[in-house]
This record gives sequence, C-alpha cells and structure tokens, in this order.
Amino acid sequence: MHDVVIVGAGPVGLFLACELGLAGCSVLVLEREPEPHSPFKAKLLGTRGLSAASVEAFYRRGMLHHLLTASGVHDDPGADPDAHEPSPPRGVGHFAGMMLDPAQVDVAALPYRLPSPAMEGMLTYLEAIETLLSEQASQLGVEIRHGVTVSGIAQNDEGAVAQAGEHEYAARWVVGCDGRRSAVRGLAGFEFVGTEPQFTGYTMHATVADAEKLRSGINLTPTGMYLQPSEGHIGMVDFDGGAFDRSQQPTRDHLQAVLRRVSGTDVTLSDVHLVSSFTDRAMQTTTYRRGRVLLAGDAAHIHSPLGGQGLNTGIGDAMNLGWKLAATVHGHAPDGLLDTYTRERHPIGAGVLDWSRAQVVAMRPDPHGQAVQGVVRDLIGTRDGATYVFERMSGSSIRYDLGSEHPLVGRNAPDLRLENGTRLGDLMRDGRGVALDFSTDRCLRGSAMGWEGRMRYAAGPARNDLGLGAVLVRPDGVIAWAGDRAPDREAFERAVGHWFGGPEI
Ligand SMILES: Cc1cc2nc3c(=O)[nH]c(=O)nc-3n(C[C@H](O)[C@H](O)[C@H](O)COP(=O)(O)OP(=O)(O)OC[C@H]3O[C@@H](n4cnc5c(N)ncnc54)[C@H](O)[C@@H]3O)c2cc1C
Repeated sequence: MHDVVIVGAGPVGLFLACELGLAGCSVLVLEREPEPHSPFKAKLLGTRGLSAASVEAFYRRGMLHHLLTASGVHDDPGADPDAHEPSPPRGVGHFAGMMLDPAQVDVAALPYRLPSPAMEGMLTYLEAIETLLSEQASQLGVEIRHGVTVSGIAQNDEGAVAQAGEHEYAARWVVGCDGRRSAVRGLAGFEFVGTEPQFTGYTMHATVADAEKLRSGINLTPTGMYLQPSEGHIGMVDFDGGAFDRSQQPTRDHLQAVLRRVSGTDVTLSDVHLVSSFTDRAMQTTTYRRGRVLLAGDAAHIHSPLGGQGLNTGIGDAMNLGWKLAATVHGHAPDGLLDTYTRERHPIGAGVLDWSRAQVVAMRPDPHGQAVQGVVRDLIGTRDGATYVFERMSGSSIRYDLGSEHPLVGRNAPDLRLENGTRLGDLMRDGRGVALDFSTDRCLRGSAMGWEGRMRYAAGPARNDLGLGAVLVRPDGVIAWAGDRAPDREAFERAVGHWFGGPEI
C-alpha cells in the first residue's frame, strides 16, 4: 500500500512524484509505455516552451541548472539575476501567430518582477524534462514502473486501487496524470465538458523538395496557418472542423495537400519522417477531485497547443497539489486544504482554455477571423496590450483568491533576497513553506518555531523588500500572507495555522 499511486510518467506525473517524494510520501508511478524514449519526445517534435513560472518551479527545487544543461542551453540563460533592476523580458511568444515585441512590455507596470535566475521562459523538449524528473524522483525514493496500463479504478473512504490486468495497486490516493485521453478520468467518473474542434493541426519532420517556397517563422494565411521553426520542422493548422480522422496515420499525399492549401503554394514534400496531429478541442473536468482520486495536467484539461500552455498549466497543477496532498497524507493538513486544489487550479485551467479559444477565433481564415486579427494586432502593438499578453503568457497574471486584499497575497512570490545574498528560491529547495521576516527585531521568530518541520524561517534586511515587513510563502511559491513593516504577529500565526495546521508538538 503506497501513500500515492500516480498514473502516467509524463512531465506532470513525474513533477508531482518529485513533489510528493520530497515531502516524504511513498509514491508509485505506473506508466503504460514500456520504455521512456520516443521520437515524439526528442528534439523537433518534442520541443516545448516553458513559461517563466514553470522555469521558476524547477529553480525552486534546485533543478534549474540541470534543466538548462539537459535542454542544451549552455549560454546565457536570460536576465542577469544579480541586477538591481529587473530587465525587460527577452522573448515573449505570440498570440494567434501574431508575435509580441518584448521591447513593448512595460516593466514598470510589473512592480513585483524582481531579478532572479528564473525570469525568462525557455525552450526544452519532453525527453529532457522527463529524464531529469525521473532521475530526481528515483533519488527521492519514488518507484516508476513502465509497461503498466491502468484499466480500472476502484475507491472507498480509505483509499483507491488502480487495476492493470491481473494486478492491483492500492494506495491512499490515486492521481491520474495520464494525459489527454486519460483512462483514470473516465474510470473514476469525472465529467469532462467543453467545446468541439474547428481545426486539425499537424506537426511533422519532413524533407521539403523546394523549401524556398515556404517562409520561416509563423505564417497566418488566408487559408489557415503554417509555421517552420527550423528547417524540416513544420506545423500546420487546417480549418477542417477537426474532421481529420485521428485514428488514421496521415499520409505524405494528405500532408502535402494540406500544406499546399494552407501555404497557398505548390510546395512538394519528398519525405515525411515523423508526424502527429492534434485539434483545438477544448475540454475540462468539472472538478479535479472525486473522493480519493485526483487529476492533474492534460488529464484534467485539454486545448490546442497554440501559444504553448498545456505543459505549463500541468506543472502549475503539480506544484499546487503536491504539498497539499502530502500534508493530507501525513495527517497535518488543515480541514479543506485538499479542496483548495480544485478551487485554485480549475479557474486557471478554464482561463487557459478560453485563451486558446480566443486564438482560434483570431486565426479563422474568414472575414470574421481577419477582422479580429486586425483588432488584436493593433492592441498587442500598444504598451498596455503587450504587457497584458506578456502577463497572461508568462504566468505572472495568476492570482488565487485567498480572501486577502493585499495585492501580493495569492500571487507567485517574487524572488525576494536578503542582504546576505540568500534568495527565496534557495530557501524553497526542501519543499517546505518559508517565512521571510525583514523586521528589525525579527518579531516573527518565536511564532515560527512551532512549525519548523513544515516551514522554514529566515530573517534579515532585504535587498528590496517591496514595502513588506514579512511574508509567508507556501511550498508552491504562492504568497499566503504579507505583513507591513511592523508585522502583526497574531495575523501571521493565524495565517500559518490556516495553511499548515496546528503547531508541531
Ligand atoms: C505539438 C504540440 C506542441 C506543444 N507545445 C507546448 C508548449 O510549447 N508548451 C506547453 O506548455 N505545452 C505544449 N504542449 C502541450 C504539452 O505537451 C502537454 O500539455 C503535456 O505534455 C501534458 O503533460 P501530461 O504529463 O499531463 O500528459 P502526457 O505528456 O500526455 O503524459 C501522460 C502519460 O500517461 C501515460 N498513460 C496514458 N494512459 C495511461 C494508462 N492507462 N496507464 C498508465 N499510463 C498511461 C502516457 O503514456 C504518458 O506517458 C504541446 C502539445 C503539442 C501536441
């Protein structure tokens, strides 16, 4: 009997496994594929963009350096973490194929953006992430079993069982991280609702006989969209109502016909080495928990990959769920803590689905789509518009409603830094919460002592305290409480009790 069985060793399942392992839970991960390598996860088709928020999750667990190395990023990873002022973002992506100009982003309108080693998003690929997380999980005592396809789920008040053929894997909790066609979702009776697709998308590695006929980068055309991030790596969006039958392998002739249609050229594909298709079907479960079964990542929400948000949302789910589930397993979670997972993450998932739907409308190859494109192009060309899109895409607009009017509460904590050089990110490696006390008399020290196993206390003057006297940061990096320059001890203790339960004996 494990504390938690995770179904699916994709990036979200593995990230969650690391979080639970770090918190001392016994974890078993069951993965359908017999072995982890796949050409769909390698460079080219496995390439994924991580937002700054996701990069920060790796940074906070001490994995950023390994992630950069595994992703082949050996040069400057981004902004100077030791700078006094935050720099403008380096790359910010696109909305419906319309590129954002980083220089337009108004850094002054982002008062909580502090210099940090994790200020920029980055490109990586699935295999790099999964290899890193598998190694980390194994070091933390997590067991990963490949070649196990979960086909049944049973649960009662005490726990849940994942069934695979003759075998049964019992745990106190089961988490389905088994991707967009999640078996756990259906087997555990989750309701999955949303909107049907308007297009079929393709991503392929191909040899193009006359590559000069295609433009590089992202190209919105009167008949759809195609992109060519690098030679031979082509993506296409075909507004066929999602009609392509995904049970069929797309043939070279089919792909060439689509590419000709969406590019408006007579380009020739001489060979197709690897291809996968997707749609913009946008669906989400109505809750992320049913009894002893939870969902995270694509198992809970699917949408088109436009603007690259699925993995980032899934990593956010894993960070949010990990410490809450661990506290529940260990028996010190305050009442209702686990239910804040759905309460906080469901609206974020719904927002991402809408973001993706809005992009689909702006890409439609008809007069309506073109009209929306014109408006959006004008808006993202303005300083406010670019800043808004940047905040949405980088994850910095995320703020959970934690019932406080303080503008920082519910937000991802900036990488606050003590004058002795210690960064908040460094203090978060062991997965505990952090109380940062900038007050001259270290007035929260006594209060924090009762929770040492769940929360780390650090004190001293800050390099930039953003007007704060103290902050309480949850293990997922979210600010749970913020005090002014003369922090209120009782309010701090109430907040600690609210998130971490009663003091340890
Ligand atoms: C072309 C494309 C480009 C994308 N680009 C980006 C991007 O730039 N940025 C971004 O954030 N997102 C992007 N995404 C989305 C991102 O890839 C997904 O959101 C992410 O991989 C989801 O991770 P996951 O762990 O939830 O699911 P998955 O990666 O699907 O992993 C699920 C795992 O569960 C296993 N499994 C399934 N069923 C069972 C079962 N019954 N029993 C046991 N194991 C099972 C599977 O084998 C798999 O290993 C892109 C998607 C596509 C298609």
